[in-house]
Amino acid sequence: MKPPRFDYHAPRSIDEAVALLARYGGDAKPLAGGQSLVPLLNFRLARPAALIDLNRIPALAGIREVDGQVAFGAMTRQRTVEFSPVVTRTLPLLAEATRWVGHLPIRSRGTIGGSIAHADPSAEYPAVFTALDGTVVARGPKGERVLTPAELFETYLTTSLAPDELLTEVRLPAMPSGAGWAFEEFARRHGDFAIVGIAAALWRDGGRWTARLATAGTGPVPARLRGAEEIIERDGVGDKAVAAAATRAAELVQPDADLHASAD
Ligand code: FAD
Repeated sequence: MKPPRFDYHAPRSIDEAVALLARYGGDAKPLAGGQSLVPLLNFRLARPAALIDLNRIPALAGIREVDGQVAFGAMTRQRTVEFSPVVTRTLPLLAEATRWVGHLPIRSRGTIGGSIAHADPSAEYPAVFTALDGTVVARGPKGERVLTPAELFETYLTTSLAPDELLTEVRLPAMPSGAGWAFEEFARRHGDFAIVGIAAALWRDGGRWTARLATAGTGPVPARLRGAEEIIERDGVGDKAVAAAATRAAELVQPDADLHASAD
């Protein structure tokens, strides 16, 4: 299939991109890596009047460390995240999760901002963003706002970003050194979206445990498993506590059955 006709703009600055989005009054779409948007266009599931290509805006790329946080320009490629020494050192959970995202050519184009703005509940980045209490910066004609995962993700493929708002930055607090982490995923083939996945991080600070758990593929938005985290934080990581946390985690999610798997 071929996409429907659209106007094409390649702005050079964030302000110019925001002005273009506003000019189309909600009928334009930002184009990031195109790995989700272009298939939607080709299947004619999306019919925007215009594409605002973000690929020529230098201010949207790059990884910075600021005050214990790592700030990713929205257009930072997933491949850049995967091989960034800053990410390996400060956010090993994100580095591990990235290896589950599609295949190399997809990660070479796909961006961190595009993945989070697309809000596929089976995607890896929204789960990591939720587990690590990240924030995104959104810029619109009225200025900037900072959103938490609970404020951003509304339901399947839907965020609270206004049609004339651009996601400009993703911020994740650096994990403490010595933290443990894992991203586990079940998919029929490597590179497919997760049927179910979980982002987990754990660290100890002066005898107190902090646990972070968030799922992919278990509902319309990533689920933060606070009840299971609390069991680990209170009882530690012995076999009994982990088994109790796992039981609680299963109670906290209500996945839908679909073509690929039953809810169980
Ligand atoms: P685009 O496709 O360009 O945009 C996606 C949506 O977000 C569009 O609606 C666009 O308008 C909007 N958008 C993009 N950037 C912004 C912004 N800065 N501000 C506001 N809105 C914005 N993803 C996974 O997570 N896991 C997988 O296993 C996986 N497997 C894949 C397998 C295949 C074969 C393919 C083709 C894709 C796969 N993907 C997977 C999707 C891929 O990771 C995409 O990169 C990602 O979903 C979207 O990122 P993008 O940069 O390509 O965004």
